[in-house]
Amino acid sequence: MTEPGCLFCRIVAGELPATKVHEDDLVLAIRDINPVAPTHILLLPKSHVASVADLTSADAEVLGALFAAAAALARSEDIEERGYRVVTNVGRDAGQSVDHLHFHLLGGRPMSWPPG
Ligand code: 5GP
Ligand code: ZN
Repeated sequence: MTEPGCLFCRIVAGELPATKVHEDDLVLAIRDINPVAPTHILLLPKSHVASVADLTSADAEVLGALFAAAAALARSEDIEERGYRVVTNVGRDAGQSVDHLHFHLLGGRPMSWPPG
């Protein structure tokens, strides 16, 4: 499903450019336009879901595909051994700025905890 006017739906549809690093039936992974770590990849479901808040058990397959793609990309980006972070922001307090579910794959530098 596509949400009219959604930035990431438009990238999935090929209407807007992006640097793709992985694509399968369910998932698209692209480089973040404003990277905050040496590796900063966004993993999105091709079908529109606004955020984690809208997920149900019917989304199990796509979630598995998203995390499997994250693990494979961490390997191919050579950050598996030193470690990395997979993050998703939900809503205003977390700083979600695009209302299409996405996981940030971040790595290549040490990260602090707790996040700001
Ligand atoms: P959020 O703030 O919702 O957790 O993450 C949205 C992410 O999308 C941000 O890291 C931002 O840099 C990235 N972003 C916003 N617009 C674009 C775009 O047009 N292309 C790409 N590749 N990334 C984008
Ligand atoms: Zn969308």
